[in-house]
Amino acid sequence: MSTLDSKVPGGPIKDKWTDYKNHIDLVNPANKRNIDIIVVGTGLAGGSAAATLAELGYNVKAFAYQDSPRRAHSIAAQGGINAAKNYQGDGDSTYRLFYDTVKGGDYRSREANVYRLAEVSANIIDQCVAQGVPFARDYGGLLDNRSFGGVLVSRTFYAKGQTGQQLLLGAYSAMNRQIARGKIEMFNRHEMLDVVKVDGKARGIIARNLVTGEIERHSAHAVVIASGGYGNVYFLSTNAMGSNATAAWKIHKKGAHFANPCYTQIHPTCIPRSGDYQSKLTLMSESLRNDGRIWVPKHMDDVMAIREGRKKPTDLSEDARDYYLERRYPAFGNLVPRDVASRAAKERCDAGYGVNGTGEAVYLDFKSAINRYGKEQAKITGITNPSEAKIYELGQAIVEAKYGNLFQMYEKIVDENPYETPMMIYPATHYTMGGVWVDYNLMTSVDGLYCIGEANFSDHGANRLGASALMQGLADGYFVLPYTIGDYLSNEIRTGKISTETKEFDAAEKEVTDRINFFVNNKGSKSVDYFHKRLGKVMWDKVGMARNEKGLKEAMAEIKAIREEFWKEVKVPGEASEMNPELEKAGRVADFLELGELFAKDALMREESCGGHFREESVELDGEQKGEAKRNDNDYAFVAAWEYKGEPADAVLHKEELEFKDIELKQRSYK
Ligand SMILES: Cc1cc2nc3c(=O)[nH]c(=O)nc-3n(C[C@H](O)[C@H](O)[C@H](O)COP(=O)(O)OP(=O)(O)OC[C@H]3O[C@@H](n4cnc5c(N)ncnc54)[C@H](O)[C@@H]3O)c2cc1C
Repeated sequence: MSTLDSKVPGGPIKDKWTDYKNHIDLVNPANKRNIDIIVVGTGLAGGSAAATLAELGYNVKAFAYQDSPRRAHSIAAQGGINAAKNYQGDGDSTYRLFYDTVKGGDYRSREANVYRLAEVSANIIDQCVAQGVPFARDYGGLLDNRSFGGVLVSRTFYAKGQTGQQLLLGAYSAMNRQIARGKIEMFNRHEMLDVVKVDGKARGIIARNLVTGEIERHSAHAVVIASGGYGNVYFLSTNAMGSNATAAWKIHKKGAHFANPCYTQIHPTCIPRSGDYQSKLTLMSESLRNDGRIWVPKHMDDVMAIREGRKKPTDLSEDARDYYLERRYPAFGNLVPRDVASRAAKERCDAGYGVNGTGEAVYLDFKSAINRYGKEQAKITGITNPSEAKIYELGQAIVEAKYGNLFQMYEKIVDENPYETPMMIYPATHYTMGGVWVDYNLMTSVDGLYCIGEANFSDHGANRLGASALMQGLADGYFVLPYTIGDYLSNEIRTGKISTETKEFDAAEKEVTDRINFFVNNKGSKSVDYFHKRLGKVMWDKVGMARNEKGLKEAMAEIKAIREEFWKEVKVPGEASEMNPELEKAGRVADFLELGELFAKDALMREESCGGHFREESVELDGEQKGEAKRNDNDYAFVAAWEYKGEPADAVLHKEELEFKDIELKQRSYK
């Protein structure tokens, strides 16, 4: 085991980034024109990076497996994006955003990176407003904010429930300008299947044209991976169906360490699973917890009556309801961080209080909010003694203006009107804090190979606060990578064009082609989804919201067995030389089957509970925090970066010790 060099610059935390930028090497404009950069992924992270690098003058080749950058998974982001603008005058500051993020991540992130993130957060909003992103505005025309979990201020900028879509349109417009100038060459419907290293440096990729099946070689002076998260290792998640880990996993196999794979975020407010044939879960944005109150019935006979259809939730009086988050966490109430809210829902459902047929659902209720807003509106509009119906009508209009599209989506999926009956929600896999290890420059453990956005191990430690992923992806792409990559590329100005006719490209292409040929020729008996579902079940049952030593050991063995069966029995119809979605899936599931085992290994090694990783053996036994997650700072205040050694079980651990100089390590309490 070795220790890792994070390359965090010296000096006071508030000056680090500025001093660093002042002293790094730059590439002059004429030389930038001779330098090529590959960006894999054009979601918010990759799209913003590609646009900015091209604007700076580099030649960018951008890759995405969708038919347009506009379809990246980032489009799904609903609730908003954080920034320390303090527009509300409620005490926000760079330090407070930094503090909340480190605390929210359960003190498992790198201080210097998080401070930089908080620092550049304000620039992101200015950048996006300049691009025309239609953020919500208040009555006076100023940008509006709302609150997300784990914080005591309102710092979340939003565009109704479509923030990701609007931000992505901004990044996409910026990209399009560069595509039109010829500075970005866009390769839609191309999947990167390997990275090519020459003399230890990343020098290109092998990609498959997903329409024709053709295998292509692309070279560059540096490669940036912005391929998103790996939540679909659970099969069911809120991620887009296509989201996958292949790019990140391939670079891991070529030397990039993979950090903290066990840190997954299970989001508390998703539409519950309805049955065994489901392939996708749907998120109900965290913004709903600003106004929705979460509860289950207090009494078991009410639970049974609801499950059997003899009672409706609206039949239960206030004192028959257990608003368990407000009861357990009075300071933060329904706005506790996601990991805390998810575990609390699981605790109630495990205790038998879950509603709906599966017993895996709790209520998210807007009645109080509708009432409150209705009364306020009646006052504002001068209606004296308004009827209950009038209050309801006025209140519903306000809730609709804030969350209308989310309510509509819920009604379409569940066929119940959430204005009239509480929504049902349950936790689901949503986001992965783990990912490719990167240093302060966002460079992986391979020279010239960078990783940004959700694909890297990120600034969120063991748990991400809501609305912080968009902030991190755009900070990486617009404001961090464009500087740090220049420092590396300043040594590449004499390199010249990189040939793809070399033995390294030959070998990488052969590896890719052999694997594709194996899949189409295997003629097994089971579909790719059959294996993916089995993997997902092991992950959810044994590496899900709560983990223990026995379950994790079983999970590692079971995933290995599924993987071995996959390579014997997988059946991929169709040909390699055509559009073949089953072939695409096969490659991705093969990678998930390796990543899943490393994930369980990482969770097994981390014998503490922290953030999204809850070890049943590590729980507070006494005092106010009884029953809550117990962190172990003495032994586990490090980033676990795994080096590939063949079988996932053989991966070697490298530790990056985390130093906390500007924030005192405390027990995370939201009581
Ligand atoms: C339903 C939902 C709602 C969310 N809401 C919020 C929110 O309100 N606020 C917030 O901060 N965060 C939110 N998040 C999280 C946030 O949306 C994501 O973390 C973020 O958008 C990820 O951006 P990205 O650019 O890193 O990756 P993505 O948007 O996933 O983009 C990945 C890109 O990589 C490409 N790609 C992947 N693999 C390959 C390959 N092998 N070859 C070529 N191209 C490849 C894809 O084509 C795509 O262009 C939400 C997430 C979900 C699931």
